[in-house]
Amino acid sequence: MHTVTAKTILSAQNGMNIYRGCLHGCIYCDSRSECYHFTHDFEDIEVKENAPELLEQALRSKRRKCMIGTGSMSDPYMPPEKDLRLTRRCLELIARYGFGAAVLTKSDLILRDLDILEQINEQKKAVVQMTLTTADENLCRILEPHVCTTARRFEVLETMRAHQIPTVVWLTPLLPFLNDTEENLRGILRYCVDAQVKGIVCFGIGVTLRQGDREYFYAALDRHFPGLRRRYEQTFGDAYEVVSPNHARLMRMFADTCEAHGILYKPDAVFAYLKECPPDQEQLTLF
Ligand code: SF4
Repeated sequence: MHTVTAKTILSAQNGMNIYRGCLHGCIYCDSRSECYHFTHDFEDIEVKENAPELLEQALRSKRRKCMIGTGSMSDPYMPPEKDLRLTRRCLELIARYGFGAAVLTKSDLILRDLDILEQINEQKKAVVQMTLTTADENLCRILEPHVCTTARRFEVLETMRAHQIPTVVWLTPLLPFLNDTEENLRGILRYCVDAQVKGIVCFGIGVTLRQGDREYFYAALDRHFPGLRRRYEQTFGDAYEVVSPNHARLMRMFADTCEAHGILYKPDAVFAYLKECPPDQEQLTLF
């Protein structure tokens, strides 16, 4: 881990990465791809120690309140966050300045910040997003080795529901010949329905692989699933989009389940929901 003084923190779409690199060790992680030009080991995470100061400046200069996102490239609740508390300080600022927050994580450390998420949600809107890829706990420990497993993430979703904080699940990736099964999908959807999630993000049944990410993934396959790398190479070659042979069937099952339970599932609809920020009271009184 090393610290840097960042120049900016918010992207044009109001997303932020307080950390760069990640410690959760997901074997399929796209963020470690070479196209992101890491100049340090992916696990030697970069800590943007001035993130709260930069965020405060950015929030002060915004004329309109909006949703602030975090967690797309690096998990905001890696173990060092326990002591560093940078994500928490950023959430406190979001609350103080009356913005909304959409946080994506796989970690139960987010429960530490339940109080502040509740405050944001009462004032404006907070959405907690969790990734679920497998209902099989043992497989989860292989796919995502350094973070809590699916059963615990479900408990986090349940806790959010109990506190009226809306949730969205990222159902991705579903890896061909590993977790792209009807049984697995049914298990994850069961969790989503039980937790009454607002939406599920699923782009298709498959995974993307590119340089950097692919090598890491294949090395993990060699360690845990001998012979599977060969099957991938023979079936998909160097394709970026690695689509499961079960794609069509499982996507139908996914859509039917979401329709039956009133869960948002079309990516545009879920992203529109995540971006939608309730207007301020003053704005409302104008009409
Ligand atoms: S949590 Fe996300 S960023 Fe971190 S290793 Fe897993 S996939 Fe990569």
